[in-house]
Amino acid sequence: MPAMKVPLLDLRAQFSSIREEILSAIEEVCDEQGFVLGTRVADFEETMAKFVGTGRAVGVASGSDALLLSLMVLGVEPGDEVITVPFTFFSTAGVISRLGAKPVFVDICDDTLNMDPAWIADHITPKTKAIIPVHLFGQCADMEQISAIAVHHGIPVIEDACQAIGAARRTVRAGALGTLGCFSFFPSKNLGAFGDGGLITTNAVDLADRLMELRVHGSRYEYHHYAIGINSRLDALQAAVLRVKLKYLDRWTERRRHNAARYEKLFHEAGLLDRIKLPVVDPANYHVYNQFTIRVQDRDRLHAYLAAQGIGTRIYYPIPLHLQECYRALGYREGQFPVSEQAAREVLSLPIYPELSVDQQHLVVETIKTFYCAT
Ligand SMILES: *Cc1c(COP(=O)(O)O)cnc(C)c1O
Repeated sequence: MPAMKVPLLDLRAQFSSIREEILSAIEEVCDEQGFVLGTRVADFEETMAKFVGTGRAVGVASGSDALLLSLMVLGVEPGDEVITVPFTFFSTAGVISRLGAKPVFVDICDDTLNMDPAWIADHITPKTKAIIPVHLFGQCADMEQISAIAVHHGIPVIEDACQAIGAARRTVRAGALGTLGCFSFFPSKNLGAFGDGGLITTNAVDLADRLMELRVHGSRYEYHHYAIGINSRLDALQAAVLRVKLKYLDRWTERRRHNAARYEKLFHEAGLLDRIKLPVVDPANYHVYNQFTIRVQDRDRLHAYLAAQGIGTRIYYPIPLHLQECYRALGYREGQFPVSEQAAREVLSLPIYPELSVDQQHLVVETIKTFYCAT
């Protein structure tokens, strides 16, 4: 394998641009020796609530825990059903099963790859306790339609906004569009911690207060337990790092959007648009491009060819969740969610990180062109 000419993500480039600021924030936490929750986490939560545009934000240990705790605070129990999509990261559905509830899948839209609202109503039963749309790759699902159905049936909506921090639908940001919004600070997300971290946003004060109990074993005052919670807290070190990075997020997002626009121009100029389907952006959306995901016919061979040429790409996601081994017992069959299944065969995510250079983007497009010209 040659050295990586264009990695899928270059976190070292980002770090080197803010190195001193980050290290001094970490140093402060080390000097204080206060590591769990505390004022730094509270300060970050307040800043995030303002950023998203919700009354409250609650820091937790990961995006997966944000989803899990959101279901817990809504009272999801064994035997309940939660509607979500099969074309997403595993944890969107995994957390439902973790609580003994059943993920009920509905297919996605062929253009945006987000939840298709047309399927939701038919899948609502008296057991449906929540709907979890995913804002995949950095653009929001059709929240107007999803919310209208949810409101009509009195069902809360949990936004899986793990890939969509800073994204917006019309003028409202992801995380402020549903009952609860879930974010991940996994290092590859647009706002990445130095490890795991997550956050839940909401306008419901009662839910936020209960989430703050559930993340510390259901206690409101030490050793008084009102509910059975879990241990899922945001570390002060992570909050310190995230607080520094959040100042730059809008700038980084703008660069991701510029890179996306440049890819579109370059693929167009290279005459590749008959081979490659570019991401489709719903005009109501402000897309933050956690991924720039193209669709192609000969995906696996292109993926291997680019890797051999030193260009990092990745398949998000190769197997839709209804066809995962662990979900065999749910009884789904191949062919049941054709849009998700076809997407899983065709998607390929290209490097889109903010520090990506113009030359690197040219190289990605030229290498893809060479692949198609040689075949
Ligand atoms: C990253 C991600 C998660 C999980 O977040 P973690 O912080 O890794 O637990 C959930 N859903 C989606 C769509 C994600 O991209």
